[in-house]
Amino acid sequence: MIRNGHGTTPFVYSNSIQTLGASPPTESLEAAARVVRAAENVCVLTGAGISAESGVPTFRDALTGLWAQFDAQDLATPEAFARQPDLVWSWYAMRAAQIQNTRPNAGHFALSTLAAYVPHFTLLTQNVDDLHVRSGISDVVSLHGNLLRARCSGGCDVMLDMSVAPAERAPSCSACGELMRPDVVWFGETLSSATLQRARTATFACDVFLSIGTSNLVEPAASLPWLAAAHGATVIVVNASMEGQRRGPSILQLRGTAGATLTRLVSMAFAGRKPRRSED
Ligand code: NAD
Repeated sequence: MIRNGHGTTPFVYSNSIQTLGASPPTESLEAAARVVRAAENVCVLTGAGISAESGVPTFRDALTGLWAQFDAQDLATPEAFARQPDLVWSWYAMRAAQIQNTRPNAGHFALSTLAAYVPHFTLLTQNVDDLHVRSGISDVVSLHGNLLRARCSGGCDVMLDMSVAPAERAPSCSACGELMRPDVVWFGETLSSATLQRARTATFACDVFLSIGTSNLVEPAASLPWLAAAHGATVIVVNASMEGQRRGPSILQLRGTAGATLTRLVSMAFAGRKPRRSED
């Protein structure tokens, strides 16, 4: 079974994230910049790490406050929602409200700049926030759904914008009366086949694959970088920690925070060049 999962904590901004990883050595950045500059087709996969510098906690951060007694993984399941719908709903409603108070950071903006320079660009994200869209990338393949939206758990097409949804109780669907639920993919649920197919097609087609701020623990997203490598792409891993990341002849590791590393990488790759978008 294809499994997915996600979860996060209340949005307590941690300055310590800034010191998690120094910017990578200039030689490694230059090697990666040469690869990116020559690329025809770039596929990017992002995880919670890219949004950490916007103040959005990663999945591995411990829950605090009201939620301290829970494991994020236990709240992000269909079983938890069936058992305690209002508890799960209010956790997601709180996260949705807090995301609306965050902004894209330098890492998000570096990727929207990169998109303007490379001939073919696809952004896959495991994140359920909307920070890539707000940084200017309109076509985002959201593997795990969208925290800012709810949908009918009974399968109607009814959707609800979380900004106008109640905070404490899961509302009922206006068409069929079933409970509304967050429009995210929970642990044990299957990704939409169309979304997964788009992700796989982009993974197989790219010559450079960037894996950014993800622990590579949640399938099927976790395998995408290594599938890209198996299909001949160079994989560039950007992460504050290389724990659990693969090594190999076609894998370049850039240890550093996403904001600083991506800003330097994109500027080294394209300094003095015009974006393709403005040439059209
Ligand atoms: P994860 O929490 O498992 O891993 C986060 C990774 O980011 C780690 O490898 C960590 O070393 C790295 N990291 C932390 N700060 C960083 C920084 N400043 N720069 C670069 N790297 C940094 O998250 P994941 O791999 O995305 O997978 C878990 C699940 O969490 C996903 O399903 C996702 O949907 C969900 N999630 C999403 C959000 C969000 O939407 N912003 C937030 C939390 C969790």
